[in-house]
Amino acid sequence: MLLKNRVAIVTGGAKGIGRAICLRFAGEGCDIVVNALHVEGARKVADEVKAMGRESLAIGADVSNSAEVNDMVEQTVKKFGKIDILVNNAGGISQATGGGIENTTDEDWDRIVGINLKGQFLCCRAVVPHMKKNRYGKIINVSSMGAIHPPAPIVHYHSAKGGVISLTSNLAFELARENITVNAILPGPVRSEFFTEMLKGMSEEEGKAFFKMLDNRVPMLRMGMPEEIAGVALFLASELSSYVTGESINAGGGLPLTPRDD
Ligand code: NAD
Repeated sequence: MLLKNRVAIVTGGAKGIGRAICLRFAGEGCDIVVNALHVEGARKVADEVKAMGRESLAIGADVSNSAEVNDMVEQTVKKFGKIDILVNNAGGISQATGGGIENTTDEDWDRIVGINLKGQFLCCRAVVPHMKKNRYGKIINVSSMGAIHPPAPIVHYHSAKGGVISLTSNLAFELARENITVNAILPGPVRSEFFTEMLKGMSEEEGKAFFKMLDNRVPMLRMGMPEEIAGVALFLASELSSYVTGESINAGGGLPLTPRDD
């Protein structure tokens, strides 16, 4: 058991990568606060965690709203008495239109940077005092390979994920002497509902071709699975990584290398 009796908050834990992290951590003995934008989705995963014999709390909160984030952290401390691990996983692009610089409205920029960068800042700011008190903490920020190797012009989202890399190294520097490690994961394309919006309006054939294109962009010639990102998160949440901080780990099947063309 790599996380026995630890307490973790996983944002965006209702599905995809976040859900896989919740279940992987629970399997290692961790109690889990499952956050999602809407509490119903979080409850389903919290029930799965409980069925594995661990404690769980479902909290609906928008990570880009500081009052909701602070309330989530207060509820966590009230129930569990501490926070050992924060996984800043909530994110995506489904709540915006556009992507190229000329189509990106002020509102889209603010919303997407709000969810994907400010949300991570707000969650870190809220948990750090509790981690400092115990002189223990593991913060894992989910960035994206798109921050350094964009597959398409999506300027708000990729810029926010680039900011996450910088947030990670800055917080790691600030918090190292408090025994709080801060690291980031950069997933390549992973099979999840992340792509749902992009698939809207595509036929089944077009959808298949879209996923095939994503497979072929990766040197390993396949998209990743949520569980493969959860494995990296487990390493960063456990004592296996006790002397690692400020790192941004590529988890992209070989990206940013280009695939062989033979
Ligand atoms: P997903 O769409 O399946 O899950 C995203 C989760 O974030 C959902 O549970 C959603 O409710 C939650 N969320 C969105 N906005 C939120 C908000 N404001 N407050 C609270 N929760 C919110 O996508 P996923 O693939 O599991 O994505 C997880 C993370 O991985 C995201 O940060 C995403 O940007 C990142 N990522 C995904 C991929 C990919 O290809 N799937 C690639 C690189 C990075």
